[in-house]
Amino acid sequence: MEFLLQSPVFKMACQQFDETADFLTLDSSLRERTKWPKRLMCVSVPVRMDSGETKVFSGYRVQHHLALGPTKGGLRFSPNVDLGEVAALAMWMSWKCALAGLPYGGGKGGVTCNPSQLSLRELEGLTRRYTVEMLPFIGPHTDVMAPDMGTNEQTMAWMMDTYSMHVGHTDSSIVTGKPVSIGGCLGRREATGRGVAFLANRAVEILKLPANSRVIIQGFGNVGSYAAFQMAKFGYRIVGVSDAFGGLYNPNGIDAQKLWDYHQINGRVTGFPDAEKITNEELLIQECEVLIPAATEQVIHAQNAKLLKCRILAEGANGPTNLEADAILEARGDVFVIPDILCNAGGVITSYFEWVQDLQNFFWNEAEIYDRLYRTLEMTFMEVLKFSKEKKVSHRRAALALGIQKVVNAKKIRGVYP
Ligand code: NAD
Repeated sequence: MEFLLQSPVFKMACQQFDETADFLTLDSSLRERTKWPKRLMCVSVPVRMDSGETKVFSGYRVQHHLALGPTKGGLRFSPNVDLGEVAALAMWMSWKCALAGLPYGGGKGGVTCNPSQLSLRELEGLTRRYTVEMLPFIGPHTDVMAPDMGTNEQTMAWMMDTYSMHVGHTDSSIVTGKPVSIGGCLGRREATGRGVAFLANRAVEILKLPANSRVIIQGFGNVGSYAAFQMAKFGYRIVGVSDAFGGLYNPNGIDAQKLWDYHQINGRVTGFPDAEKITNEELLIQECEVLIPAATEQVIHAQNAKLLKCRILAEGANGPTNLEADAILEARGDVFVIPDILCNAGGVITSYFEWVQDLQNFFWNEAEIYDRLYRTLEMTFMEVLKFSKEKKVSHRRAALALGIQKVVNAKKIRGVYP
């Protein structure tokens, strides 16, 4: 599997693992068993396009480990998806689920495509065929998917329908992040962004920063938009927002709801009248108290890490900070990092609640869901801060060490079959 190391994102995930394994003084056999993914699936996905031609897309799914339960993780539709990226994301999901105490291994899937250039019918065809290609490898007790970049509740509804048609009965527990009308969980759509905001708010409280602290958010999709709404609700000032098309900046504050309405009509944040235009790169280095990268990987790197002017880096995206940037931030010591596997865990925690409800056919109300979610996030946050303080390591090292150790413990006690 060494070939995977050609992917810069997978390389980054492996290096994070190796450094944490050194810190935990893991022996070489446990290290190997814990690091490499259990299963990698690559499929070709033929889709009949609106033009009449048939186009073949590349689809992937990686199941990182099965020691604690089924694998769990999102499905991404993006032009940049490749096997290495999916493998890295699956690995991070493993540590994230273990850190939060969920009975899952990490999984991730992807199809290399640009969803904004596909019609609804083409997207449906792509999703259904990808699901069929994955049928031998997925199931409510084997591997459960959820939305990620470029996919949404509708994608999950098509997946659930396709799976159900093949097994001969409705099985809503095959995916999470579905519409509530077909077994989805109340509040799941908002959960990742709200979880990010919940933890960012806790960090503001710990650092005793002002009640009207400034917030900058990169990405205005599912995670970024709901983080913006919740931060605004807490009373913070959203001074910058961006998406793949560019950024906006207004030191007096941007109305998140008005921006959302504009985005619904125009499909992008750029051109919003109540703010100045700014590039994505420039936006990240503007002065603010809270910076929330909620788009994609490795956007904070060696060149901009020393220029960040935030006090809190709340990682809504997976892997937004590369290794060089991480080292720079650690040496600076003035940025309170809430690492991705903790910061965006609200999504998978609520997905877990959805899966549990579907398996039992017994549904909870939204208050119960958010009460359980915030209690889980608070407990995990405190555990990471305590470990970091006691062992004198960064928050990221603490979160990774706690997550990896739980996977190692499970592998150790289960032993090697046969
Ligand atoms: P999404 O597709 O809903 O939104 C992505 C947003 O990022 C869009 O606004 C897009 O325009 C923007 N974007 C893409 N590339 C960009 C770039 N280079 N610069 C600036 N903006 C860019 O995706 P999402 O579900 O919100 O996921 C965002 C991140 O959060 C991903 O890293 C994902 O893995 C992670 N995440 C998502 C969830 C979830 O529940 N959706 C859970 C945990 C982690």
